[in-house]
Amino acid sequence: MRKVTLLSSTIFVGPGLLSGGGEGLGVGVAGLTRAFILTDRNCRPYARPVERLLKESGIETLTHALPSGEIQKSPAVAGRLHQQMARFGMDRKSALFAVGGGVVTDLGGFVASTYMRGIQVYLFPTTLLGQVDAAIGGKTAVNLPQGKNLVGTFYQPVAVVCDPAVLKTLPEREYVSGLGEVVKYGMIRDASFFDYIEKNVAGIRGRDPQVLDEIVHRCVAIKADVVTKDEKESGERAILNYGHTIGHALEAAGNYKTLQHGEAVAIGMEAEAILSMELGIAPLEVLAAQNRVLKLCGLPTRAKKMPMKKVLTALKLDKKNILGRTRFVLPEAVGKVRWGVEVPDDLIAAALRTVTA
Ligand code: NAD
Repeated sequence: MRKVTLLSSTIFVGPGLLSGGGEGLGVGVAGLTRAFILTDRNCRPYARPVERLLKESGIETLTHALPSGEIQKSPAVAGRLHQQMARFGMDRKSALFAVGGGVVTDLGGFVASTYMRGIQVYLFPTTLLGQVDAAIGGKTAVNLPQGKNLVGTFYQPVAVVCDPAVLKTLPEREYVSGLGEVVKYGMIRDASFFDYIEKNVAGIRGRDPQVLDEIVHRCVAIKADVVTKDEKESGERAILNYGHTIGHALEAAGNYKTLQHGEAVAIGMEAEAILSMELGIAPLEVLAAQNRVLKLCGLPTRAKKMPMKKVLTALKLDKKNILGRTRFVLPEAVGKVRWGVEVPDDLIAAALRTVTA
């Protein structure tokens, strides 16, 4: 088991931490009065070791298993959970334990950060996207009908426990989608990690626990380093959005049904690398290397027949725009990006035409 520190959080990474029955879970729970365990129905088995650990420590627990799906990440569901926690008698010395994918950890983090102005939260991400991204960095959120993640907080969990062995039960499309974020980390920060991905693609596709342990640990370490330097995204944290500016617009244009998040990020990275090449920031080899590794991972680099107009409209509505201008994170080389780059509209349209053709 390896540990990474991110501000006040400790992130534990190791195969078997959860799936091994909770032996050596590592998290300290002394002094807690009550524990609310939030999970979804697919992740219920992974919540059991957490439940057992807490009960063995003499802590009274209540488990709530939501149906799965993004629709649960709403203010209405958050409000019902707050009430359930109050009825259960939770006080400021109680804690919330969220066991599941990004939906459960985003929602659980939000509920914990707002209940009694903030109680302790522990996250146990069970998807690849959750382990390398959603549960790391302290962003919590629920959605509004007007847009995704419009209500949320910055709130660091006490601990995050990533067990790569639980990823073996993840549906293939969810798993491959998570690899979009993994490739992103190599591109934004670490050329040697990018090489590691390429050389170990068989182990990655086969979900080898040892390879996954390395992958998750390296992604967590990169994200922790970036977030520690810029928690509230006033500068460098923006580099984590590589591929996301166009990726989010593609997701929105497909009404969040056509593409998985990581698939949209992969296509977004392709489009943004094209922009970089057109602007003379990166040579063609960078686009070629990224395209090769994305394909080896089983990720798409095109969103065929996605209506361009809808993508452009979504891009204009991006909540990260400043004074109506879209700013991009663009690669300079494998392992190095620059952020805050404004791009002429005609180049954006041309890159979108390429990836949606
Ligand atoms: P998810 O939470 O919806 O999980 C995907 C599916 O996999 C669900 O059906 C779930 O029940 C199932 N599942 C989870 N773990 C499993 C396992 N081990 N075995 C079998 N099935 C399993 O989706 P996700 O991709 O993990 O998360 C998406 C959410 O994360 C979005 O709401 C997104 O906004 C959020 N997110 C947040 C951040 C952040 O910084 N807070 C970053 C990226 C994404």
